[in-house]
Amino acid sequence: MRIIMLGPPGSGKGTRAHIISELYGMPIITTGGMLRGAVREKTEYGQKAKSYMDRGDLVPDNIVNGIVKERMSKPDVAKGFILDGYPRSVNQADTLDEILKEKGIKLTHALSVVLSDEVIIERLSKRRGCPVCYEIYHLVSKPPKKEGVCDRCGAKLILREDDKEDVIKYRLQVYKENTHQLLERYERLGLIVESDGEIPLEGLRDHLKEILG
Ligand SMILES: [Zn+2]
Repeated sequence: MRIIMLGPPGSGKGTRAHIISELYGMPIITTGGMLRGAVREKTEYGQKAKSYMDRGDLVPDNIVNGIVKERMSKPDVAKGFILDGYPRSVNQADTLDEILKEKGIKLTHALSVVLSDEVIIERLSKRRGCPVCYEIYHLVSKPPKKEGVCDRCGAKLILREDDKEDVIKYRLQVYKENTHQLLERYERLGLIVESDGEIPLEGLRDHLKEILG
């Protein structure tokens, strides 16, 4: 299987990617992971990316695309792969198509996690994080034993800037603008499989096996 993951922040896209990876023994490829790997291995594009990252700048599309190409030529993707966070734009999707075409392979699924804005806002705005050990809590589904304090290390829990309601709404809007063309593209190709974002964690393995076949 060669899968790309699509889904808004807070939809459980990453959790699904991990379960699929375990179920089918395929690597998860994320943009961050690829960039860090390429920099560590000092690949041609990794070295180009590093100069941007060192300055705190966004790595340009052509370099990210080069890194994807390098990553896709590694032996571990022969069994299949799960791309999470790439492609993010039509330009990146075009590049991915070219890379796969050169290798003589095609995507098999675009897994789209579907969840209403209301549920996403509910999930993310009630998250609290520990700034010290990075444990994540949720005021309803996973509250700390003592209000506002990390169970593991005793630090004071915080609401991340990214999880404030206004910021979440903005992130969702950006996500939709970037993604609707991708959804249409993969819909036309008949690759979309939908995953209901409200399925509880304990039911996810069976659900994913079922929709991926
Ligand atoms: Zn902690």
